[in-house]
Amino acid sequence: MDYRGILDTIHAEVAPHVGVGRVASYIPELAGVEPAQFGMAIVDLAGGVHTVGDARVPFSIQSISKLFGLTLAFQLAGDTLWERVGREPSGNPFNSLVQLERENGKPRNPFINAGALVVTDMLCSRYTHAENALVQFTGRLAANPALDYDARVAASELRTSHRNAAMAHFMKSFGNLHNPVDAVIDAYCKHCAIRMNCIDLARAVAFLANGGTNPWTGERVLDASSAKRLSALMLTCGTYDAAGDFAFRVGLPAKSGVGGGIVALLPGECGICVWSPALEDSGNSHAGSVALERFTDLTGRSIF
Ligand code: GLU
Repeated sequence: MDYRGILDTIHAEVAPHVGVGRVASYIPELAGVEPAQFGMAIVDLAGGVHTVGDARVPFSIQSISKLFGLTLAFQLAGDTLWERVGREPSGNPFNSLVQLERENGKPRNPFINAGALVVTDMLCSRYTHAENALVQFTGRLAANPALDYDARVAASELRTSHRNAAMAHFMKSFGNLHNPVDAVIDAYCKHCAIRMNCIDLARAVAFLANGGTNPWTGERVLDASSAKRLSALMLTCGTYDAAGDFAFRVGLPAKSGVGGGIVALLPGECGICVWSPALEDSGNSHAGSVALERFTDLTGRSIF
C-alpha cells in the first residue's frame, strides 16, 4: 500500500476543511487551541510509521481515553463489565442525563460519559491511582513510556465538571458507582487530559488491528474475541451520536474525542490517527472525519 502517496493526496484534499467547525470550549483550557491544525499518522503492523502534517504535535486525547480505560477494565472484569454498562448506541449526546433515569442508572455504552465514569469507577476499585495505571497501560500500547496527562487541562475540566458529577451522583443513587464521586471524577478528568500525538495514538490502537496482541511488545492485551467486540463497539458507539453516519461514510471502527483526535483501525493492517481541533456539532473533528472518509475511498479498504 502506497501510504505516502495516499497521505499526501488526503492532505491536499482536506485543506479546505481544516479549521472548519468549532474548537471545544466547555473545557476552558481547550478553548485556546489553534483550530487550523491537521495531522495524520498510519502505523502498520510491521511498525512502519507514515505521517503527514502535524502528526507529532501532542494534543488532549479526551474521550479517546475511554477506549483505553475500557480495554483495561475489560481485562480486569471480563464479561461482568456488561452487568454495569450496556452495549447499544445511545442516540443521545455524549453527556446526556435523561436516558440514565429511564434506564435505572445503567449507561447505554462505555463511550458516553456515564459509561466511561462507570468504567473509571471499576479502575478506581482496582488501583489507588487509576489515572496513573491508565497512563502506564496506554504508554505500553503506544510504546511510549513518557506519556502523561496535562495537569492544567485536568484541573480546567475538574472546575467545570458539574454535569459529569451530576451523572456520577445519579448512578451512585442506583448503586452503579462504588467509589466516592469526587475520586471517580478526579481520575476521569485526569485520564481525559492525557496528551498524545497522532503517532502515539495510531500505535496505541494497533493491538486491536492485531487481534488483541500488542504488536510492539508481543503481550496479549485481549483475546481475539474480546478485541473483535471492542472494535464492534467503536463502530457502533465510538463517534458520538453520529456513529451511524460515520460508519456510513468511513466504514472503520473509530473513537473520537473533543480534543479533535480520531483513532481508527483497519483489521490486520494498521492503526490510524487523525487530528484537527475544529469539531462538527456532533463533537467529531470535521477535517478528521473527511480525511478518514477519503482514506477508505482512496485505499478501497474498510471493514466492508
Ligand atoms: N472530558 C470530556 C468530558 O467529559 C470528554 C469529552 C469527549 O471527548 O467526548 O466532557
